[in-house]
Amino acid sequence: MYFNHATAGALIMKPIMKKYDGLFTAKEKTALWFIGITSGVLPDFDIAYSVIKNLEDHRSFVTHGFFLYLLAFLVIYGFSYFQKKDEFGRKFFKVAAAVFLFGITTHLLIDSIIGGVAVFAPFYPKVFGFDLHIEQNGGNRLTQYLLSEYMILEFVLLFMFLIFLKGKEYFVPRFLSLFYFLIAAVSFVLVSLSFF
Ligand SMILES: [Zn+2]
Repeated sequence: MYFNHATAGALIMKPIMKKYDGLFTAKEKTALWFIGITSGVLPDFDIAYSVIKNLEDHRSFVTHGFFLYLLAFLVIYGFSYFQKKDEFGRKFFKVAAAVFLFGITTHLLIDSIIGGVAVFAPFYPKVFGFDLHIEQNGGNRLTQYLLSEYMILEFVLLFMFLIFLKGKEYFVPRFLSLFYFLIAAVSFVLVSLSFF
């Protein structure tokens, strides 16, 4: 999927944040939203690299394997043992590590349905999941995708996001997700027009 990883991340985050509502300060909550939503788009940051290297499919790349993120998770979780203060202390890093892994997992799950991912990269290169079937639509990658049935899921996610993250308390996640949404859309347009 191309556009809605951040909004999907925010949707997954909502019940988690509700659960921990009373536990964290405003600053900590902002940081948690940031970690959750950013990890939802993080694997796609490799698009910059694939453009430079002119790689056709970035989803078979190590950035779409679980290994790197498992390491990052352990590092963030490990931090919790060294934090003695109240704010951004032990419990923050524990939840932050979980939220990070949730965001990444959401991304890889969605990508496995739409395109497939090499979950065990770099150790095992096989791509798991369903292929992207858009070539029959003609035109470049952009028009192919925009005409594909995957746009239904993109719209459903976007509408769910707009409905479920309404109100002042969700200003941070709304702003962040829409910001990433915009970046994803612009880079997808630029990349498909100039490379595919
Ligand atoms: Zn991806």
